[in-house]
Amino acid sequence: MADATGPGRTPQRVVFSAEEIAQRVRELGTEISAAYGEEDRLLVLGLLKGSFIFMADLVRAISLPHQVDFLVASSYGAGKVSSGDVRLLYDPASSLAGRAVLVVEDIVDSGTTLRRLLPRLQARDPASLEVCALLHKRLEVIDPEPRWVGFDAPNDFLVGYGLDYAEDFRHLPYVASL
Ligand code: 5GP
Ligand code: MG
Repeated sequence: MADATGPGRTPQRVVFSAEEIAQRVRELGTEISAAYGEEDRLLVLGLLKGSFIFMADLVRAISLPHQVDFLVASSYGAGKVSSGDVRLLYDPASSLAGRAVLVVEDIVDSGTTLRRLLPRLQARDPASLEVCALLHKRLEVIDPEPRWVGFDAPNDFLVGYGLDYAEDFRHLPYVASL
């Protein structure tokens, strides 16, 4: 992993390869395309920053016409431990009312981000509100669980394919453990 070094840490092990991810993202795109109709006016809402690469691949795998927006919720600082505090740093400009909203998350860990965020989005009266997470550590049962999950993930700290450690490693084309 010659391109995988960063200050202080080196990813130890590839957990999901670029090829595995690409295959799974295609499947998710097909399932999501089948689950909605054009009349749903699907809005795919990516949680920045971690979802940016997954979003870029996923929306290109969704054949149904849809729109894209982002929101920024921050629950982790530079460290690896969740503070439990979710701040909304950027709010989607798009109206959610009456639309099918699909929130795209990089990884579900404690579920705190979704637990705090989803009620705030639900309050804007979307016709439906679902979650597609690339990775899920299955540490806790979340209510509701994401409708789509790319992979069940090991309880390691994962980086790459958008996921960072102190802003490093987001560019890696695979998911690796630190
Ligand atoms: P939760 O709120 O479910 O505990 O954590 C969700 C957020 O924490 C994710 O969107 C992600 O930003 C961050 N996170 C949780 N686990 C990991 C991990 O293994 N690696 C990285 N890079 N971020 C993580
Ligand atoms: Mg994050």
